[in-house]
Amino acid sequence: MSDVVVALSLDEALGALSDYPDATVLAGGTDLMVEVNRGLRRLSHVVGVSKVPELREWSIADDRVVVGGGVTYTEMMATPLADAAPALAQAARTVGSPPIRNAGTLGGNLGTASPAGDTLPVLAALNAEIVVVGPDGERRMGLDDFMVGVKRTSLRPGELIVRAEMDRPQGRQEFLKIGPRNAMVISMAGLALVADHDARAVRCALGAVAAGIPRAREAEAWVAERIDWDNDAGVDHAVAAEFGQQVAAASAPIDDHRSSAAYRRHAVGVLATRALKRAFAQGGSSDA
Ligand SMILES: Cc1cc2nc3c(=O)[nH]c(=O)nc-3n(C[C@H](O)[C@H](O)[C@H](O)COP(=O)(O)OP(=O)(O)OC[C@H]3O[C@@H](n4cnc5c(N)ncnc54)[C@H](O)[C@@H]3O)c2cc1C
Repeated sequence: MSDVVVALSLDEALGALSDYPDATVLAGGTDLMVEVNRGLRRLSHVVGVSKVPELREWSIADDRVVVGGGVTYTEMMATPLADAAPALAQAARTVGSPPIRNAGTLGGNLGTASPAGDTLPVLAALNAEIVVVGPDGERRMGLDDFMVGVKRTSLRPGELIVRAEMDRPQGRQEFLKIGPRNAMVISMAGLALVADHDARAVRCALGAVAAGIPRAREAEAWVAERIDWDNDAGVDHAVAAEFGQQVAAASAPIDDHRSSAAYRRHAVGVLATRALKRAFAQGGSSDA
């Protein structure tokens, strides 16, 4: 039988983690309890963080959006957060079912660190910094440094994911994913694409098609030079198609029970073409 501490503040959560170095953090439980119920994970101590107010906070500034680790998908889908980080809201809308979206959190998606975690490409495309707090104070890092492999993070013992701080560029944002059904589905391929009109940049990150969450940086740079940033002219069909090919080349998928590698590579290219066309559809230069 495991001991459970339900923390009511960040200090209490950090204190419990320091008292029980082998403790497991429990947020919405939509990943963790599945593993426990399947007998894949045995817990000694548990620190529940769903009642920690500091983790439930979010804020919006002109150029920045901050989302606490305990913010749920349902909260990400609601205005004004959904208007400030539209791709995050689009990703949240595709997660599970309403009960899963009411319980599941950004911090839990990060903590699980699955390449199919739907918020992760969005965080990568929005240059998010992941802020963690633990016995040695605060550390901040990009997603590449946070997620160090399939379901592996660089979290140290006693650390909590407190928030993600992401850009708020002027331009449209898209999140798209493909699975065997339209709902209640884990991504076979996912993609976030962000247009940044001030920086004249396109940022594109991929989910479920590599061991991590790669940015398609060569494709980003190539396409940014072919966008007519001064005019709201849409994007050329041939450019969008070539962009898709280049993004597919940035993937490194595997065959598994959900999909073949070949299908994943093809699918992520199709998603890239579609997302680019949507992001630069006429009228696309307006604030998302
Ligand atoms: C039916 C079903 C459908 C699903 N559909 C999708 C989907 O479409 N897309 C998708 O991406 N995911 C999906 N998931 C997975 C899951 O809902 C998400 O990964 C969710 O974000 C997990 O959040 P949670 O709060 O429930 O995390 P938990 O299960 O509580 O925790 C997950 C992991 O993160 C750690 N953790 C949690 N919070 C913190 C924190 N603040 N600091 C440090 N570590 C922390 C925990 O210790 C644990 O290792 C689905 C799950 C189910 C059961």
